[in-house]
Amino acid sequence: MVQMIIREQSCKGCGLCAAACPKGLLLIGSKVNALGYNSVVLNDSSKCTGCALCARMCPDLVIEIFKETA
Ligand code: SF4
Ligand code: SF4
Repeated sequence: MVQMIIREQSCKGCGLCAAACPKGLLLIGSKVNALGYNSVVLNDSSKCTGCALCARMCPDLVIEIFKETA
């Protein structure tokens, strides 16, 4: 099972994570955060493999991925 935490208040909506996702699961959402940016949202969590490419790409460490290994 994969769990993703998106600290949406720190996101600047640059879209680097969305471009990195091989499954195209991340989108820039319509909600504007306290910094004035549209933060990223995960579109379909059931399709997320937990590869963490998105988290590695984010310059602001907005995304954290937890993957159950057992
Ligand atoms: S962990 Fe991988 S599959 Fe899941 S949203 Fe990030 S890049 Fe996409
Ligand atoms: S790379 Fe980081 S700052 Fe840029 S849209 Fe994704 S989560 Fe937000």
